Amino acid sequence: MSVRNTVCIAIDGEAAAGKSTLGKMLAARLGYLYFDTGVMYRAVAWAALQRGVDVHDEAAVTSLAEEIDIQLALPNRESGQHSSVFVDGVDVSAAIREPEVDQVVSIVAAHPGVRHVLRERQRQIGLTHNVVMVGRDIGTEVMPDADLKIYLRAPIEERARRRYLELRARGEEISYEQVLNSMRQRDYLDTHRAVAPLRVADDAIVIDTGDLSIEEMLAHVLEIVHLRVGARL
Ligand code: C5P
Repeated sequence: MSVRNTVCIAIDGEAAAGKSTLGKMLAARLGYLYFDTGVMYRAVAWAALQRGVDVHDEAAVTSLAEEIDIQLALPNRESGQHSSVFVDGVDVSAAIREPEVDQVVSIVAAHPGVRHVLRERQRQIGLTHNVVMVGRDIGTEVMPDADLKIYLRAPIEERARRRYLELRARGEEISYEQVLNSMRQRDYLDTHRAVAPLRVADDAIVIDTGDLSIEEMLAHVLEIVHLRVGARL
């Protein structure tokens, strides 16, 4: 039995499976907070690169995660479709989406110390807000008693194509193969790490996003929300 009097909807899944697009729209429709937990791991990875901290050094990266101040703000016009993220007051919203960060974020996120620090902060938000929380371990570790757990899935070629188009639209000089390889590596690390690996929670609803438009997906999930969480809305 949950002690929360707020509602938490967890959305997990592999890279670029459509979690943030769905999460943002769902949160807007329900009037909930949208919280993308991936940006916290990205912020730590960015800070490590910036300060020359070895991303394989768990103690050093964990200290960094404890030390830096990560602030999140709702999406604004300047940041495009993503929420703004600040590290020690610096807007890193665009920088944390660079391919350099993609390359190391899963190494940073595999350190148990880093996960411990970030998970506690994520839980605090999850316990105190009506929230749509997006990530890899929300339904399994961060909010195991979430009111609804969604797991999004799509073939890697489709996910890589989405990320490739996104990066090209931002002017990044990167090939589809580079994006595909980087994503394959990240998926592997995320599903094989010792602590809180990406997996489908036993009570999650799995949705294949490949064949659905975002409108269809949103309508489908809203229906589930009303059925499963309806009484608490
Ligand atoms: O969701 P996004 O692709 O931005 O996440 C970046 C990385 O952060 C993931 O590949 C994963 O290594 C890590 N992450 C995580 N747990 C979460 C959210 C993200 O390990 N809840």
